[in-house]
Amino acid sequence: MKNPLYEGKQPMDHETRARSRWLIMLIITASSIIMSLLITFLILHFTHSPMLPIIFIIAALAPAIISPMTTWSISNLMIKVQKLEEAHRYLATYDDLTGLMSRRAFIEQSEALLKLCERNNEPLALAFLDLDHFKHVNDVYGHGGGDEVLKMFATVLQQQKRSSDLVGRLGGEEFALLLPYSTLDDARALLERIRKQTQNTQVGYLEHTIKVTVSGGLACIKNNTQNNLATLIKVADDALYNAKSQGRNIIV
Ligand code: GH3
Ligand code: MG
Ligand code: MG
Repeated sequence: MKNPLYEGKQPMDHETRARSRWLIMLIITASSIIMSLLITFLILHFTHSPMLPIIFIIAALAPAIISPMTTWSISNLMIKVQKLEEAHRYLATYDDLTGLMSRRAFIEQSEALLKLCERNNEPLALAFLDLDHFKHVNDVYGHGGGDEVLKMFATVLQQQKRSSDLVGRLGGEEFALLLPYSTLDDARALLERIRKQTQNTQVGYLEHTIKVTVSGGLACIKNNTQNNLATLIKVADDALYNAKSQGRNIIV
């Protein structure tokens, strides 16, 4: 099932952008020439001046030269603004290191998915995942090693989740999954797969091989219940805290 919330505004690719730029330039130039010829004709007609061909040639030539130049500069400026807007939207929505959704985007889309599940009387689960002893990874292998581990874990999440699930990096080594249409059993099975794959994956960094584990806290709502995201977050957060207290590398 495809998540309807993913259908955001997509960035324009280079070819489409170039094609529309040429098309706009052509339309503006052609309309400028037509307008210029029409105005020239009207002026000559109402002033009873002779309709010399040279006048019409100049009337067509001037916009044919000026229009493409000005349209090109203006479209350059517009493309720059469009690219900046796309970059800004990307940075606000995605985490730079892992490419996962940022905290803000995750929460925003989770609210909408929660309402959707409520409307359709469907269950939904929320999971918080936190890498174990991650500070130790940074201390031993350096920040670069830690970053490689974060990227590996993001890949595990992307591989395991369904296309309708939301995945976000909440900050540091903390991640979240929102699983619409998932019962507690479905969610637990998915988290167990994530936990096992994480434990069995080796991250190569310089001459080192890094291994980590992950703990997870799970919260679930059944169909037909009125819930808010804050309550669900609190339950998942408490479950994660319990997982850490119980010795880590566990889903609660
Ligand atoms: P616990 O098992 O209880 O979760 O312990 P922990 O060491 O994983 O948790 P703690 O909160 O003590 O440490 C988290 C560390 O994550 C500290 C911080 O320096 C590191 N960190 C946060 N963001 C990044 C990042 O983007 N890259 C790297 N390499 N480290 C990060
Ligand atoms: Mg941690
Ligand atoms: Mg943490």
